[in-house]
Amino acid sequence: MTNLILLGPPGAGKGTQARMLMESKGLIQLSTGDLLREAVAKGTQAGKAAKQVMAAGDLVSDEIVIAIVNDRLDQPDVAAGVIFDGFPRTVIQAEALDDLLKDKEMKLDSVVLLEVPDSAVIERISGRYTCAGCGEGYHDLHKVPAKPGVCDNCGETKFKRRVDDDAATVSERLKTYHAETSPLTVYYSDKGLLKRINAMGDIDIISAQLNEVFDRTSN
Ligand code: ADP
Ligand code: ZN
Repeated sequence: MTNLILLGPPGAGKGTQARMLMESKGLIQLSTGDLLREAVAKGTQAGKAAKQVMAAGDLVSDEIVIAIVNDRLDQPDVAAGVIFDGFPRTVIQAEALDDLLKDKEMKLDSVVLLEVPDSAVIERISGRYTCAGCGEGYHDLHKVPAKPGVCDNCGETKFKRRVDDDAATVSERLKTYHAETSPLTVYYSDKGLLKRINAMGDIDIISAQLNEVFDRTSN
């Protein structure tokens, strides 16, 4: 069982790479962003607390996020190995994750930082959308479905755009990333777990590099 964290700014491609790794290696993707959006859509207690915060590009409280991750890690499918996507995002969350993993007799094998300059983030995020059926990611300029309006992957014709993907909110999310999440690169390089991948290139090249890191660290 191999567990890894994908770190990187919004728009670095964490979700895309997590999905590819999930397919190639059978891992489970644990995206706190997805879980929170689900909670918002369902209108749960946590979802109600998270809705405005997310729309503003700020961080949902550590308490809520850690509880969500704890619940998710109690489901048996995580035994296949987990890709943490968008979590941890603060040093407090990183410390909490260490405790959770210890409790559940799991361990962290590597932390991969997907590096993208700020200048690329806004351009990547504005224009992105996903399939409402399978979650496949698309972009108005960089990746359109082969048949317009139809998902390549599953044939769905409905697509979604995130409410926090407008330019103003993206720049807020970037600020939050630099203030709260960047320090985690030090946290994990001190533990000897951090690997950096230049995430500006071709999706398949990045994916191949990630697979390589996975193969080197898996057990
Ligand atoms: P991105 O990485 O593209 O910014 P995510 O889907 O990971 O997008 O997160 C969207 C929003 O959900 C964040 O801006 C934040 O409000 C909230 N969120 C997701 N994960 C966390 C987390 N680990 N801690 C706090 N807030 C989170
Ligand atoms: Zn689809």
